[in-house]
Order: sequence, then C-alpha cells, then structure tokens
Amino acid sequence: MAERKKMSLTMKVLLGLVLGLITGVIINNFFEGNAFVDAWLVNGIFHMGGAMFINALKMLVVPLVTFSLICGVCGIGDIRALGRIGTKSFLLYVLTTAVAISTAIILAQLVGPGKSFQMEGLEISEVSASEAPPVTQVFIDIIPSNPVETFANGDMLGIIFYAILVGVSLLILGRKVKPVIEGVELLNDVAMKLVDLVMAVAHIGVFCLIAKTFAQQGIGLLMPMAGYFLTVLGALAFHFFITICLLLWIFTRFNPVTFMKKMRDAQAFAFSTASSNATIPVTLRSVTERLGVKNSVASFTVPLGATINMDGTAIMQGVATVFIANVYGIELGLGGYLTVIGMAVLASIGTAGVPGVGLIMLAMVLNQVGLPLEGIGIIMGVDRLLDMCRTSVNITGDAMVSTVVAKGEGKIDVDIYKDPDAGVFDEDAEIVFDEEVEEEFEKFVDEKMSD
Ligand code: ASP
Repeated sequence: MAERKKMSLTMKVLLGLVLGLITGVIINNFFEGNAFVDAWLVNGIFHMGGAMFINALKMLVVPLVTFSLICGVCGIGDIRALGRIGTKSFLLYVLTTAVAISTAIILAQLVGPGKSFQMEGLEISEVSASEAPPVTQVFIDIIPSNPVETFANGDMLGIIFYAILVGVSLLILGRKVKPVIEGVELLNDVAMKLVDLVMAVAHIGVFCLIAKTFAQQGIGLLMPMAGYFLTVLGALAFHFFITICLLLWIFTRFNPVTFMKKMRDAQAFAFSTASSNATIPVTLRSVTERLGVKNSVASFTVPLGATINMDGTAIMQGVATVFIANVYGIELGLGGYLTVIGMAVLASIGTAGVPGVGLIMLAMVLNQVGLPLEGIGIIMGVDRLLDMCRTSVNITGDAMVSTVVAKGEGKIDVDIYKDPDAGVFDEDAEIVFDEEVEEEFEKFVDEKMSD
C-alpha cells in the first residue's frame, strides 16, 4: 500500500483554526441574521462541536494533574527540592506578571487610548461584576476541607496541595507502598494516553470553536474600540516576542525560536478555548515531551502557572485601566498605577484560568483605585477576542517559567529540547493497539466465559 504522509497535529490544528476563522468571518458578513445558518450551524453544529471539545479537554485535567503531580513528587526524591521549585516558580510567576502589567501601562500611557473616545452610538453592556474572593480566603482555600469536593469542583490550588501531600506521604512510607507508587505511575500513563486520544480530534473542535466565535463577533464591533484593542495586542506581542524570549534566553541560554515552535500546539489550544485550565493537558504534554522538562518539575509548575500566572490577563488589565481612566478623564498618578500593579498580581493568584475571568479581576482592580465599573461595559464587547490572545500568552509564560526552573534544577533533557521532532504528535506512531495485549485479553475473556 502506498505510504500516505499524515499531517502533523500542529498543521491540522492550525488548519482547523484558519478554516474556522474564514468560515466564521463569511457567516458574519454574508449570513448575519439568517435563521437557518444561525440555528443549525452557529448555535447548532459549531456550538455542539466546540462545547463537546471543551468538555473533553476539561475531562482530562483533574486526573492528569493529580497523577502526574503525585508521580512528580515521588520522582523528585529529595523533598527539599520541592520547596525550592515551589519558591522559585512562585517568585518567577509573580515577577513576570508584574513586568507584564508594567509594560502594558507604560505602552498605554504612550499611546493614550480612550483620550478622544466617543460614547455615542456605542452599545455599552451592563456590568454586574461579581466580586473576586478576598486574598485571605484564597490562601485558606488552598487547604481543602473536603478533598472530594475540591476534586469535584476542580479547584486547582487545593488539588495541587492535596496531591503533593499524598506524594510526600508515599515518599515517607517508601518501600512499603511501592506498588501504590507504581500503580499511580501507570495511571499517569493512562491519563497521558487520554490526552493523545482527545488531541486526535482537536482540529475539529478547534474549527467549531473558532467558527462560532468569529461568526458572532463582527469586525464592526471592533472599530470604535480599535485604539484599545490594538494597544492590548501590541502589549501582548511585546511580552510574547520580547519579554518571554529574553527571560528564557537570559536564564537558560536556550534558543527562544525552538521554544516558541514547540509551544505552538498549546498556544493554538489556548487561543481556541480561551482557558489556561482547559489547556493544561496540552501545555503539560508540550512542556514535558517537546521541551524536555522532567515531569517532577512540570507536573507542579504547569497547573500552578495556569492558576496563578496570567501575564496576558495582567496586560489587558493594565491597558484597560489606562483606557478607562482616559475615557472618564480621571488622573491616576504614579501611586494609583502602583496600586493597579499590586492588585492585578494579587488578583491573578486567586482566580482560575477560565474564559472571561480577567474582567472579574479587572472589577477588583478598578474598585481599588476608584475608577467607575461601568468602564468594563465599554470593553466587554471586544473582550472575547482579546481573551483568546491573552490566554495564549498566559500559557506561554507558564511554559517559560517551567523551563527556567527546570534548567536551574538540572531537570531538563537538553537533547529533547534541541530535537525538532521530539514529542511531535504522530497518530500512526502513537494510537496503535498493543496486539499482544489484545490477544491475551481475548484469551482471558474466552477462558472466563467457558468456565
Ligand atoms: N481566559 C484567561 C485564562 O484562562 C483568563 C482571562 O484573562 O480571562 O488564562
């Protein structure tokens, strides 16, 4: 049989993304208000395909984080190393978020979006900002009073805490619980294989999500907000191409181009889902199998980053604050902006990486410096598209910090990092059934049936 070269996952996902974008834009421009297209395509097939795909991704998160983290703690061997990894990644996450929002505020001050803003004719959404939890509560909730509830709710910080404690207990018990450790390792392999299975259909999910979003988000909505929109995009691009690449190079001397190429899958997933949390399985896979970071570091830094590190979100908040201050003609001054930086960093620690959470955090920031919450109503209309872009930046920041921490700990396989093909998802090679196991299993079932 003639060999047919299969397209790589990255190509397929990018193709799904581009086709989704074209389809969405066509629907938005030529079929707006068409009841059939609206009911059957946009809110029918695309909505269903997209929602099923997001569910499939979310389904992977909790078991994968739990098993890989327990394995990670067991694999680290030295418990002190765990403390070091925790401190380093926490500090780097806070530092990068602070740098991100500072550059965003400086850029927004230079560009001055919102200075000559016209409110007339603009549809302003009503804002009902739900309060972000107070910081004290965030720390209290890290310790789960009921682990079953924590796991059921997918509370990432509580899950991380509990999984680490289980790992540490297994390490203390040592030889006695060796079969349990081996069992968790096997369960981790199964959870990883599930990621491959879901990824095999990712291009369809990505297509549906993007087509639906662009069918509903017209370019017309962007025009009055172009100044704000482009300033956020500019600050995101600066952080993505300059800050992240520079920090990676300074701390590791690794080639940032290789890093970015290997993160493309995860970035495409983050862009389509607008959720760092739902992207955790793909980020984890890219960081370990493509960049070569050992699971003992990545299993901790990736889910932690998805929860507490949001560089892209902080950038949106920085620009949004300057924009709203300009629109309402309020002068914030240096003290005000320093408060904004502090609040944005704190807010990002307490909120999970899910779509649109950045706006809730923004409400908290605006409150603190006395800016009107109605300002959020103005930017809400264009937030979905920016959410997609900033989520890609968020997970890229998580991966950069994971790589830096792993390099410092000697927990990265440089050969894997340098190998362009390492960890590339290849359906032919990966989704094959183990025939021997299948046969043995068939025999086993036959025997049982004839008993
Ligand atoms: N969607 C973002 C994330 O999951 C958070 C946000 O900016 O709203 O990382």
